[in-house]
Amino acid sequence: MSFGPTANQSIASRAGVLRKRLGTTGPVKLVRAPGRVNLIGEHTDYNEGLVLPAAIDREFLILFEPWDRPEVQMTALDMDETRSFAFEGLSPETRGARSWIDYVAGTAWAMREAGLPIRGFRGVMQSTIPVGSGLSSSAALEMASTWALAVPGTPRPATGVMAAIAQRAENRYVGVNCGIMDQFASAAGEAGHALLIDCRTNTFKTTPMPADLSLVVCDTGSPHRLDASAYNTRRSECELGVKLIAEREPGVTALRDVDEEMLARNRDRLPEVVARRCEHVVKEDGRVMATVVALRDGDLDALGRLFAASHASLRDLYEVSSAELDAMVEIANEVPGVVASRMTGAGFGGCTVNLVRPGAEEALQDAVMANYGKRTGLTPRVFIVAAVEGAGEVELDA
Ligand code: ADP
Ligand code: MG
Repeated sequence: MSFGPTANQSIASRAGVLRKRLGTTGPVKLVRAPGRVNLIGEHTDYNEGLVLPAAIDREFLILFEPWDRPEVQMTALDMDETRSFAFEGLSPETRGARSWIDYVAGTAWAMREAGLPIRGFRGVMQSTIPVGSGLSSSAALEMASTWALAVPGTPRPATGVMAAIAQRAENRYVGVNCGIMDQFASAAGEAGHALLIDCRTNTFKTTPMPADLSLVVCDTGSPHRLDASAYNTRRSECELGVKLIAEREPGVTALRDVDEEMLARNRDRLPEVVARRCEHVVKEDGRVMATVVALRDGDLDALGRLFAASHASLRDLYEVSSAELDAMVEIANEVPGVVASRMTGAGFGGCTVNLVRPGAEEALQDAVMANYGKRTGLTPRVFIVAAVEGAGEVELDA
């Protein structure tokens, strides 16, 4: 599949392409939703912990013509495919063969389940988010869908509530067991800011990205991804840790309630693997808070140490890194001007996230292009990205 327009094409020109494809002269609407990259806080969301993602300027667009029929007809330009679904009888039990339309239909289903009115439309969509690289194209599609399906004039729930509805679409309708971070980041983004999301309360604060740091994402191009069963195993290991610790520590319902001291005094109760998984999660929450402080203070040395510690913990304690991700981080760390580098996303394949001094982005890109393929036999991609505002409707010129 191709991505058609490149990321730096303006929304207006991408919308022009979509409008032609939709082929109407009537009134249309445009909604957008960004992908996201997580700066730090990995595998913490489903432990009711903290994450620090940013919405990035790789985005889904849906251009559509609302209609009165209780159904959606959508064309995915990147796939050159048109699919439709009716609102009547929509349910995970009656979902057909797997398709990208499931993310839209699932969002419609989850919105209705949450008591939100929805409206049908005929639309076209296109994205500049690479698929399956861990930049959350799926969550962006869901968040864009929430905006396209919403009935104008009806109150929109709080960002965290809307993100939870989209997460439910992915968990229950599509059948992918993900945490809430991806939908939340796509929904809540703010230009030039990262988002400190508390996955216990589903609330967030924005935190400014230092103006003298660039954000660079390196895609390992690895076909391996943390598969559903490995992800679910990690989740149940964390749950077992909580259960065993809670037998002695009243009030513990998630790893969020466990600090390093509590983990240390209960470690003998835990199978060795479970203890290591818990140690990663407990310390990763602390690294998220320390990263917020380091970003605020512009403490580049601290950022480098925190990213390195997170990567090492994901590699050695949580065991979700890979030779490719490790190689990508090693290559980045040798480039002058690279401040911090770590794997991002669930693991095995996907991307690394890098904080880079402005001017060093190309040196990083060159080093990756020169060395990564030699070390791994794979073709990398490098994206210089910026933090942007979250999903919403875009005003169109008449
Ligand atoms: P990611 O890490 O990018 O979220 P997922 O496997 O969770 O990867 O979601 C990818 C799925 O989202 C694709 O298989 C497809 O169904 C849908 N999707 C993503 N981008 C597009 C696109 N441009 N056009 C149509 N569907 C898309
Ligand atoms: Mg996804």
